[in-house]
Amino acid sequence: MQPSRFTVRVPLPERDEVFLLNTLTDAQAIVSPDVAALLDGRAADTDAAASALQTLADHGFLVTSRDDDDRALAQHFSEVRHDRGELRVTILTTEQCNFACGYCVQGDHGDANASGRKMSLETADAVARWFAAQLDAVRPQRAVMTFFGGEPLLNLPVLYRLAERAHVAARMRGVTFLINVITNGLLLSPEVVGRLVPFGLNGVKVTLDGDREAHDRARPLRGGQGTFDRIVANVAAVAGLCRISIGGNVAPDAIDGYQALLAFLAQQPFAPAISKVSFKPLIDTQGSARSAVSASGARARVIPLAPVGGGAEGGTCMTARGAGRASGCDSCGVDDLALDDLREQTKRAGFSTPDGVHMGPCEIHRAHAHTVGIEGELYKCPGFSGEATEVVGHISREATVMERESARRFNRLAAYELCGDCAFVPVCAGGCAVASHHELGDMHAPTCHRRAFESALVTLARDTASSATEPREGAA
Ligand code: SF4
Ligand code: SF4
Repeated sequence: MQPSRFTVRVPLPERDEVFLLNTLTDAQAIVSPDVAALLDGRAADTDAAASALQTLADHGFLVTSRDDDDRALAQHFSEVRHDRGELRVTILTTEQCNFACGYCVQGDHGDANASGRKMSLETADAVARWFAAQLDAVRPQRAVMTFFGGEPLLNLPVLYRLAERAHVAARMRGVTFLINVITNGLLLSPEVVGRLVPFGLNGVKVTLDGDREAHDRARPLRGGQGTFDRIVANVAAVAGLCRISIGGNVAPDAIDGYQALLAFLAQQPFAPAISKVSFKPLIDTQGSARSAVSASGARARVIPLAPVGGGAEGGTCMTARGAGRASGCDSCGVDDLALDDLREQTKRAGFSTPDGVHMGPCEIHRAHAHTVGIEGELYKCPGFSGEATEVVGHISREATVMERESARRFNRLAAYELCGDCAFVPVCAGGCAVASHHELGDMHAPTCHRRAFESALVTLARDTASSATEPREGAA
């Protein structure tokens, strides 16, 4: 027997114990150092040690050979790819946005808002028919539809039409149906929520980029007016009517604004209604996007690296972007440890937040996860939307030769094959393909935030230990 290469350990000196996690099986254990030493080949010279050794093997901490790990990893990615339990569909209802965020070339800059496309009701009907056909083909237990944009609430007729028709299609087939909305919050209201709840509204995610000062600087209206107060008032108005989560884009120089935001949120009467607070590094595409503007004279689009549909919490999109293992991501510039610290502060403020270890594999690795564009074109994830060369099909016509070739490219995605023996491959899969595509010019190359995983692992170990009143299974 040998340790699985997906087994990671965190010493807990204050308890004289060791936290074990296998990132492939997700088995977790807190064991005594002598049990942990069995992983290193210490002889199991007592009945208790032999029993502990067997327990470690049963949970995948030990394997008989490297081939075991390889086979199990291949099986893991195959199961992720072919999972039929949940159909995930992200709908881009409009390219328009009523904000003029400095970091975003979409939205209300110049004539972008007027010229941005919107999904038509006819296309929405076609999407509903395609969705019903997907339900018949996949036969999932659950379907999750996430509305995204642009700003999805700027196209309410399409949003309502699709929500209702998809809800009916799912109900007729006995499929649980959930709706998520990712919005800037400016148009969020009890009326909107009231219309969507009967169709299965699961949650609304609202973006706040820091406290009032930081947010208003980052996410103003076109005239420069702040949006923070109105968004907070809107959140307060719908709190209790549906699940609300707060997401933010973390800029490298704005960490302080998030700390102030957490303190502010914790004091609000609606704080208990917030189901989750999560922050992701701001994906800085402006360099390439702005050069696209100057080169072609056309306005480039933002890459919407926000969470995509799926799961009760609304998504598993990662934050990975940039190459290397250095302290800060090459492209987003946000220090991994600063993000981990922010996660800690979020928990201390009383909010649930992702643990930073269980981050994937993301939607792009799932066959039954789709992003539908304004005209009904299909993408593998929202991060590729609007790029004609990355379209993989269409909801109501045969895929073209180019689209089929594009789909084949996505099906071959396996950047993790270049990641060697990294223990985080099962939960990272080589990072964000959109980041690889834009930063490295190759979606098949890994973008690495390993240090973020390692830092989050230490926090997970401490949290698990502090919540464990008794030694965990496998402890001697
Ligand atoms: S490839 Fe990147 S943007 Fe797309 S779903 Fe995965 S993590 Fe999100
Ligand atoms: S990208 Fe980095 S953290 Fe992710 S699997 Fe590869 S080496 Fe590991």
